[in-house]
Amino acid sequence: MQKNEIISLKIEDMGVDGEGIGRYEGMTFFVKDALIGDEIRARITKLKKNYGYARVEEIISPSRFRVEPWCELHRRCGGCQIQALAYEQQLVFKQNKVRDSLIRIGGFAPELVDDIMDPIVGMEEPFRYRNKAQFPIGRGKDGNPVAGFYAARTHTIIPVTDCKLGVRENQSILKEVLAYIKECHTAPYDENTGKGLFRHVLIRYGFTTKELMVCLVINGTKLPAQERLIERLIKIPGMTSISVNHNTKKTNVILGETTECIWGKPYITDYIHLRNTGDFSCEGTAVAYHISPQSFYQVNPVQTEKLYSLALAYAALTGKETVWDLYCGIGTISLFLAQKAGKVYGVEVVPQAIRDARENAALNQITNAEFFVGKAEEVLPEFYERGGSGDGEDMLHPDVIVVDPPRKGCDEKCLTTMLRMQPGRIVYVSCDPATMARDVKRLCEGGYALKKVRAVDQFGNTGHVETVVLMSRVQD
Ligand code: SAH
Repeated sequence: MQKNEIISLKIEDMGVDGEGIGRYEGMTFFVKDALIGDEIRARITKLKKNYGYARVEEIISPSRFRVEPWCELHRRCGGCQIQALAYEQQLVFKQNKVRDSLIRIGGFAPELVDDIMDPIVGMEEPFRYRNKAQFPIGRGKDGNPVAGFYAARTHTIIPVTDCKLGVRENQSILKEVLAYIKECHTAPYDENTGKGLFRHVLIRYGFTTKELMVCLVINGTKLPAQERLIERLIKIPGMTSISVNHNTKKTNVILGETTECIWGKPYITDYIHLRNTGDFSCEGTAVAYHISPQSFYQVNPVQTEKLYSLALAYAALTGKETVWDLYCGIGTISLFLAQKAGKVYGVEVVPQAIRDARENAALNQITNAEFFVGKAEEVLPEFYERGGSGDGEDMLHPDVIVVDPPRKGCDEKCLTTMLRMQPGRIVYVSCDPATMARDVKRLCEGGYALKKVRAVDQFGNTGHVETVVLMSRVQD
């Protein structure tokens, strides 16, 4: 067997990123864009000792789960790894991904997992769900400015103004921005030389308020003929905030440090309203959030309502509890917890996010939530080791701890301190099933029992999945 050889294989499984997995002469092959059930001819692109990678050359017999992808660019873009898979089957894939992680990495018995795991919460509409889009700007073949996305693993911009995961409004905004750039006769940014002005367009949309935000990221300090851009953009219904962000560094990071609002408000407002979602219910008052260009905010607001309802249902608060919300971002979950608890303490590493969290608490007249800047693995042990009395005692032995860490999961020091605090319940919200399973295993070895697991699809057509897990303390 060698590189570039053409092999025939049947795809029998799917890997964690949605790639197809098949076997050929005892070797396992990972094949991007191949779906479970496909029979294909593929070209070997890389060979290792026991496995290899291959690219689809021809689909001999398509999987019965194959659908016509809505976006003709989906293979080149790489953002929607599983768009060609029927949505129902995407949900099966994600449910299994969470289940398998708990069994393989977490070491839990399949019978236990099947017993406590509820069916994944799917989306009603797996397209047009993102409230945030970031389009790089470059120069097209004809020399005109274009906006689009980077082709997978490259820095070549493929022009597209209508990503099917984003809102329709993106299209009219990009049309105006590109027309303005052309009019200015100013060059877009060139990644290779570090020269040129226009880098990215960031767009945010409030699903409940219909407010729009546009932020133009430039490699410089001033926008030429700024009034012309404003004039064009404010014709678009819902335009609420226009700003310029300055990023003069040669970096892949999209936003620079300073942002200047040039028209309207420096933020848009959106609401999250927990609803009765059928089999799990947790109604609360709507919470308003101010979102600035830099704020972290969940990108799928419809599914976020379901995710938080589930986290709250698992927390089972009655009004008196003390709760820690670790990795709290701008306080999104904390403010819902605060409506149902006695006191909530949020911890987050990004200072700006904590500033937003405090502002959002005030905006919603929530007074029983307190926020701390720092790493969860440092803030929590500091409090614990300092000890406390009175209210402080509740803080060290909370009723519930909620965590929502980034992909790498929780730090060991954070997990150890959580165990020492002995909360009655731990609610683990996760965007990566592998690290979630690793951490849940550790917590269960430390005296907790796995009670409930449910996946929520926040990112239809991509391979990502969100999970909420409930653990409770085993009494000794
Ligand atoms: N719960 C929030 C945010 C979740 S995203 C929401 O639902 O909106 C994870 C958050 O963890 C990010 O805001 C990130 O900045 C923060 N974070 C990353 N590492 C951290 C650490 N070590 N300690 C505390 N927060 C951290």
